[in-house]
Amino acid sequence: MGSQSKQREAYLTSRVPAALCPACGCVLDAATGTALHAPRPSDFGICCQCRIIFVFDSQRKPRPMTPDDWAEIAGSARLLAEIQELRGILASNPPPPRFW
Ligand SMILES: [Zn+2]
Repeated sequence: MGSQSKQREAYLTSRVPAALCPACGCVLDAATGTALHAPRPSDFGICCQCRIIFVFDSQRKPRPMTPDDWAEIAGSARLLAEIQELRGILASNPPPPRFW
């Protein structure tokens, strides 16, 4: 791997309780992330359909971002880098088809 390759080589996909994206309404029932564990409450997520950033609530369902959530991301170089990485991956892959 060259120095330009900054993508991780490992991601974990986990099932989460089926719930609607707070922005586009698509059903989200799985999550793939940079952390090698299933999403936990308060973890951030990105909708694979509309690319909005959301937060996993106490039941690991997506909820809209609050101003405090945005402040947390803005203050964390690690979170900004991870979100940028994931959005880059999503940008190079078309969203999955919608069946409804
Ligand atoms: Zn969405």
